[in-house]
Amino acid sequence: MPYFVDVILPIPLEQYFTYRINEAEAAVLTTGIRVAVPFGKSKIYTALAFRLHQNPPEVYEAKAIHEILDEEPIVTAIQLKHWHWIAQYYMCTIGEVFRAAIPSALLLESETVILKKEQAIVEEKTLSDDEFLVFEALQHQSSLSVSDVGAILERKRILPILNTLIVKGVISLKEEIYEGYRPKMVRYVRLAAHYHKEENLVALLDTLKRAPKQSQVLLHIFQWKAENKGALQIKELEKRSGVSAAVVKALVEKEILEVYEQQTDRVNFEGEELSSGIRELNSYQEKALEAIKNSFNQNKPSLLFGVTSSGKTEVYLKLIEEKLALGKQIVYLLPEIALTTQLIKRLQVFFGTKISVYHSKYSLQERVEVWNNVLQKKSKAQIVIGARSALLLPYSDLGLIIVDEEHENSFKQYDPAPRYHARDAAVVLTNLHKAKIVLGSATPSVESFYNVQQSKYGLATITRRYGDVLMPDMELVDLKEQTRKKRMKGHFSERLLVAINDALEEKEQVILFQNRRGYAPIMECTTCGHTPQCPNCDVSLTYHQHRNQLRCHYCGYHMAVQLTCMACGGATIDTKGFGTEQVEKELKTLFPEARLGRMDLDTTRGKHAYEKIITAFEAQEFDILVGTQMLTKGLDFRNVSLVGIMNADSLLNFPDYRAHERSFQLLTQVAGRAGRTQKRGKVIIQSYNPYHQILRQVTDHNYDEMYQEQVYEREQFKYPPANRLIKISLKHKNYNTLNEAAEWFSKGLRNFFKANVLGPEYPPVARIRNQYIKHILIKIPKEQSLPKTKDCIKRVQKSFNAISQYRSVRIIYDVDHI
Ligand code: ADP
Ligand code: ZN
Repeated sequence: MPYFVDVILPIPLEQYFTYRINEAEAAVLTTGIRVAVPFGKSKIYTALAFRLHQNPPEVYEAKAIHEILDEEPIVTAIQLKHWHWIAQYYMCTIGEVFRAAIPSALLLESETVILKKEQAIVEEKTLSDDEFLVFEALQHQSSLSVSDVGAILERKRILPILNTLIVKGVISLKEEIYEGYRPKMVRYVRLAAHYHKEENLVALLDTLKRAPKQSQVLLHIFQWKAENKGALQIKELEKRSGVSAAVVKALVEKEILEVYEQQTDRVNFEGEELSSGIRELNSYQEKALEAIKNSFNQNKPSLLFGVTSSGKTEVYLKLIEEKLALGKQIVYLLPEIALTTQLIKRLQVFFGTKISVYHSKYSLQERVEVWNNVLQKKSKAQIVIGARSALLLPYSDLGLIIVDEEHENSFKQYDPAPRYHARDAAVVLTNLHKAKIVLGSATPSVESFYNVQQSKYGLATITRRYGDVLMPDMELVDLKEQTRKKRMKGHFSERLLVAINDALEEKEQVILFQNRRGYAPIMECTTCGHTPQCPNCDVSLTYHQHRNQLRCHYCGYHMAVQLTCMACGGATIDTKGFGTEQVEKELKTLFPEARLGRMDLDTTRGKHAYEKIITAFEAQEFDILVGTQMLTKGLDFRNVSLVGIMNADSLLNFPDYRAHERSFQLLTQVAGRAGRTQKRGKVIIQSYNPYHQILRQVTDHNYDEMYQEQVYEREQFKYPPANRLIKISLKHKNYNTLNEAAEWFSKGLRNFFKANVLGPEYPPVARIRNQYIKHILIKIPKEQSLPKTKDCIKRVQKSFNAISQYRSVRIIYDVDHI
């Protein structure tokens, strides 16, 4: 009887792909086990077994799989269901979800690179013929791909050989691959077995009399043993005996000591658990907790709407504590940007070793460790804190999801597919697990508040800051008037300067917010008006002062700043607009004594850069922090009494139906960093347009009015939350092809959706990395079925794909585009 397996390949295929397996394989293979499979002419992929059956595919001859890679499934049934929901809802393929979810170290493919292990001592006679061939090939070539190895050995099933070569220490693999996962090893030393015999040891000590340093090392080993301290790390031994690494190495070479390695888990928590446990909630927090549980009882998600510094985290802790006691798994989602040590530390104080952190700045190895710990339901991964991808881990018994700062846009993945919204995908995941979910924010998204109004979500509120700290005092400064009265120094109004001065005198800290990075976004020739452009993208290059460069924020292209205009040769080049760097520079002259820090994308690359700035500011190592949106995210600084917003207008004037909502959220969140302790904080907002309704709503803390206005407007123009949006992007390197294709596609769509199709339109940046882009927007009225709409779109795409000259045009769907 023939056996077949449908697999999920980590590539955008519309369907499962079917492979042949033999009876023995069929007996051990189940859903969720990885298999290595051939694909196309010469590729090998790691795929996921999805279902076994006995029906050969109709249109192609099924190939045999190469081999089975796991003994147990590495994904769970619920997880697969969830992935399928994501693929279907966000109009992408299950393969794309698979690829996004799984740490790439678990996805070996033919392009994976094999390297000769450095300093390996290989006993050639211990190698099999095939192993020797690979070993020999690596003497002549610095690296081989998996498919190269297949060619050398003239066979397909090569992963087992690669595995034994790894075990024998002959080869290693480049990082981004399956076996690239190496648990972190710690090197220990011990006395070689030979010297466990008394007489041998005596003889040894005798011979070492003329090597005092080496004897000293031995003495320390004895002492360590006498103290019963367990395994001894090489580093520790060197430190204790005060000798250099060479001395220990000599002993190892003489085979007196031997080195052995042991695995440690690198995702370890080394602090202490706080014995005092979780703090008492105040009455507002208690009420909110009750309301949340009420929603839970009705099986509804709960929106926790608590003003900044109201102590939402403390409420989450209570909820976590309860689910923890039941042995449930818990996910704590944060926006990418907010994954601060601040919060992780705070949680670790309470839950110690039960916490794992999962996000993209962690290495592949670390991510595999968390994956495995979650899969095995280990207690050290019972609580996972992470950005959106933490939602895609192999949970089997989820009890609670917390989505903190639920209004944040970074919960929506933009590129590549799956373009999912982690908040919404989290709600679906909790349904699959029959688990509970809280969405928390001081400035809820209009969508979530709308869901409360529709009784889909429950609502819990905290309207007071913890400890009855007052909401900050908000003041608007009219930049037009200040300019007219000549009260401006650079970009600072007199009001703001006085307030900064006052704060500094009181030894309090200041945060200044500017919505742009870089020194001055663009340079302009005052003679001919020319602005240097990126050669790959339709966008002006921005000026970065500290590197004296012009850079493209889209593709990374950069060039040195030119002294004369590249168009006319004129020598007067001026900067337009201003960013964080310029604010910092002006501050240096205005407050030469003050210590300054800056936080934006340029200063926070690298794994710990962001945390370093936060920690330094917390430790009051500087007085004024200048930053972009990054500093809005749930940070809790104790000593900040003043927040200044340099220019609110750049937010308000954004060409987007959400610009007002976003401005409200951003300004309220930044303002919320002020005065989180007893003394009332101050916020100064500079604007050329101080009578704008959003600014008034921010200063009055009037969320309701903002919400009503937004819902009304968006209802008028058929935008979310009541209606839905799908954005379709078309990309092609040829301008004319793209134009025609986009015209054709939108016409096809208009047949179905009439006036609810907008575009095609060029986006503000119409070319990125030499690809032209056009957007089509489809508004989906609330009474129109979303699944049917998607079917129609797919039908249009099918006819589109049948036209040969359009086949190379890329089509990208973004469902619930934000
Ligand atoms: P939010 O997340 O709502 O902005 P936080 O959770 O950061 O607010 O709380 C603000 C501050 O109040 C924090 O410093 C926190 O330690 C303190 N706090 C909140 N609730 C309590 C409580 N029940 N007992 C003691 N301190 C609390
Ligand atoms: Zn560019």
